[in-house]
Amino acid sequence: MSRTVLVTGGNRGIGLEIARVMANSGDKVAVTYRNGEPPAEFFGVRCDVTDRDDTERALAEVAQQFGPVQVLVANAGITKDALAPLMSEDAFRDVVETNLVAAFRFARLVAPEMVRARWGRIVFMSSVMGFLGSPGQANYASSKAGLLGLTRSLAWELGSRNITVNMVTPGLIETDMIKGVKEKRREGLLAQTALRRTGTPTEVAEVVRFLASDAASYVTGASVPVGGGLAMGQ
Ligand code: NDP
Repeated sequence: MSRTVLVTGGNRGIGLEIARVMANSGDKVAVTYRNGEPPAEFFGVRCDVTDRDDTERALAEVAQQFGPVQVLVANAGITKDALAPLMSEDAFRDVVETNLVAAFRFARLVAPEMVRARWGRIVFMSSVMGFLGSPGQANYASSKAGLLGLTRSLAWELGSRNITVNMVTPGLIETDMIKGVKEKRREGLLAQTALRRTGTPTEVAEVVRFLASDAASYVTGASVPVGGGLAMGQ
């Protein structure tokens, strides 16, 4: 079945790989991008996810091209690290706005059509840091932990309409996002990772594909770890 899929932050990193994996399964995939050009292989909608008007326009463009979004992957995310006493409120707010508030906004805007259709899939991109906490990442960890409450609340609200809502909690995945992680910190995290290596965007994307598939029809409100054993049992 070819569904309309929207991946936020689908122009690079994990999001781009999710877009590829979903397209390979036969879905019609749209991605958001902020600057420059979208990936040539996908229908790109320009959108700063922290901007409400941008978000509404982007969703309207996707609906016009492919029909209403049936699978939402709210993946866009940022870090703005600093130890808490040195972290500005703006840096805290920016990260929460991007990682949590924008995810909520996309979900609330796509939900009505999913309710009408009595089918939908929503997948949020969290992080093991939301469970572990992370020095220098009070903003990031708070935003990713917040996604758990969002996931479970929406799972309750939308479950009776055959809409599943889940989140994926990756560990250390090789993308631009972890290029700035200091070697010592990286080694420390890998020492706590059972598989003793970083993950690939494909390894995350395959789990998202499963959660969005009919095979996962009885999975909702779940936090699915893709961390090679990092934060096992959290
Ligand atoms: P990247 O930095 O490679 O990509 C981040 C993506 O988010 C980019 O497409 C970026 O767009 C987009 N984005 C950020 N802010 C905005 C915004 N305001 N509006 C629109 N798009 C935005 O990171 P990853 O691919 O690694 O991360 C993807 C998700 O996975 C994030 O939510 C991240 O927190 C999460 N994650 C990543 C882990 C890792 O180890 N890599 C571990 C756990 C979770 P642009 O190109 O315009 O900047």
